[in-house]
Amino acid sequence: MAVFGIVSKEKTSVASSVYYGLFALQHRGQESAGIVVNDDGVFSTHKDSGIVNDIFTQKIISALGEGNMAIGHVRYGTLSTKERVNAEPIVVNHIKGRMAIATSGSLVNAASIKRELELSGNIFHTMSDAEVVSYVITRERLTAPTIEDAVSRAMDKLDGGLCFLLMSPQKLVAVRDKRGMHPLCYGIRENGEYVVADETCALDSVGATLVHELLPGEIVVFTGSEVKHITEHCDDAPERLCIFEYIYTARPDSHIGGYAVHKARRRAGALLAKAHPVEADIVIGVPDSGLDAAIGYSWTSGIPYGIGLIKNKYIGRTFINPGQDIREDKVKIKLNPIRDTVEGKRVVLVDDSIVRGTTCAKLVKLLKSAGATEVHLRSSAPPFVNPCYYGTDIDSRDSLIAAHHTVEEIREMTGADSLGYLLLEDVLKICDGAAAKGYCTACFDGNYPTEIPEKYNNKYDTKISENKG
Ligand code: AMP
Repeated sequence: MAVFGIVSKEKTSVASSVYYGLFALQHRGQESAGIVVNDDGVFSTHKDSGIVNDIFTQKIISALGEGNMAIGHVRYGTLSTKERVNAEPIVVNHIKGRMAIATSGSLVNAASIKRELELSGNIFHTMSDAEVVSYVITRERLTAPTIEDAVSRAMDKLDGGLCFLLMSPQKLVAVRDKRGMHPLCYGIRENGEYVVADETCALDSVGATLVHELLPGEIVVFTGSEVKHITEHCDDAPERLCIFEYIYTARPDSHIGGYAVHKARRRAGALLAKAHPVEADIVIGVPDSGLDAAIGYSWTSGIPYGIGLIKNKYIGRTFINPGQDIREDKVKIKLNPIRDTVEGKRVVLVDDSIVRGTTCAKLVKLLKSAGATEVHLRSSAPPFVNPCYYGTDIDSRDSLIAAHHTVEEIREMTGADSLGYLLLEDVLKICDGAAAKGYCTACFDGNYPTEIPEKYNNKYDTKISENKG
């Protein structure tokens, strides 16, 4: 999921800037997208299922009109929340006014907050955390003197890895989760407009210069040309930036914690080459997120780098579709080998991660049928063995191949000639120049920074006991 916001002193076509910001963040979610434009307290909204390009035509952007602020969202639907009704931003009217909210990530205590609210008669229309957040904030707003005070008080109640943007008639409030699990930053354009986004690549896309990466727990309030930083929640919890941002989620042209994502991936490839060397003729990467690591592997091993797989640019991430049959077909539609690169060669195939094992098994087969004599599979992430509760659509241990099979079994299942994963002890070395003070590596080592969310407990208890049985 991703958010993008803009604040201008003038009334301008803020919707088109948000459109381009969201377009740059499309890799973080393709389930739905939405924009809310604020024209002096009059909110205009458009949101729908699908990708940014399909939803926002020139006509729709024009119909959203001009304003001095806007926020937008792209949604990465977890399985239970794919319906259109869960599209964000959501707009709520409450006794003290009106606000729009867009979230990025996931709360871990949404179920208990929701239950408490439902028991006191509240009703929910969506499965989105945005609605839970809006209830908590509007309740606090009843007694808080300002919207930012309400947000700050709400932070004591909200737990998990959730950043959000809140737009009131006069203010845009950006909030980073208190462990800094997800990135959030803001920049400024030459004309003085401020923009906020998960990733710096979105600032680049609208010509903004990075001003500040929000600290964990930081709240930033934008009012016209004024910017206020509220840091009272910054020491609430130790920082635990998601390491998977560097490995897979973020775009390689983004910086997180002042550190280039591309560089982190190249380093992962270099470490992988040291840990799992092999005699081969060519190193290729799985586009897009495996390419940088493949370059790192090549530079360190001395094995030439080549382009061995071409990705159809017009397809979303295959992982998004539920159902194994669809996923398998889509790999073929999405990726095609270049025979000229791989024929008669011993190939090192680098992917950023092996989750279910579907993609790499299919790719090994495709490469061999294109003439590769050997395929040596390398994952620039350690074995993915635990579900993620913080916004990644990997909520079940069941489907994680490494949770149930040894490396040798996976090698055999994927048809690779050898298999090597980034060593767990190397994972933090990929970003050791970053400003973050701590990382979440739970998907690899089970060291969760929060309680396991209650809504999942029963499901997992059942599933884990089934797996054991
Ligand atoms: P799999 O076929 O399940 O092993 O998926 C591995 C592929 O999915 C890799 O090429 C990754 O780039 C990609 N991937 C990893 N994590 C995710 C995620 N959370 N959502 C979508 N795709 C992912």
